[in-house]
Amino acid sequence: MDCIFCEIIKGNIPSTKVYEDDFVTAFNDLNPQMPVHVLIVPKKHIASCNDITEDDALIVGKVFLAAKEIAKKLGLDNGYRIINNCGKDAGQTVGHLHFHLLGGKTMGEKII
Ligand code: 5GP
Ligand code: ZN
Repeated sequence: MDCIFCEIIKGNIPSTKVYEDDFVTAFNDLNPQMPVHVLIVPKKHIASCNDITEDDALIVGKVFLAAKEIAKKLGLDNGYRIINNCGKDAGQTVGHLHFHLLGGKTMGEKII
């Protein structure tokens, strides 16, 4: 299986990791859209939000616990945004479930 994020998780493709635990890896996005732009990725290959099963509920919970830790570590004391793109209309380009953690400047009320 050809999956960029699985290769990053295994360390076969370099990345700047900012967090890792048994369930989750997080690294800086290659093409940052904000001063802080981290991708939080479950270690298990799950293709998208549509492919999450009941058995994955713990993993998804761990993603959000990781987000909280990363935000604290990176000093996002004024807040941050978490985005998941699911499927073509949302612009999902990598077929391994991931959550964008964005922060470091005021984003306002609008969605992006
Ligand atoms: P998506 O559009 O699927 O929600 O987000 C995929 C993200 O992965 C994009 O923001 C893109 O910049 C990032 N990305 C793609 N390939 C790589 C890579 O090889 N390394 C890193 N660090 N980020 C990547
Ligand atoms: Zn994968």
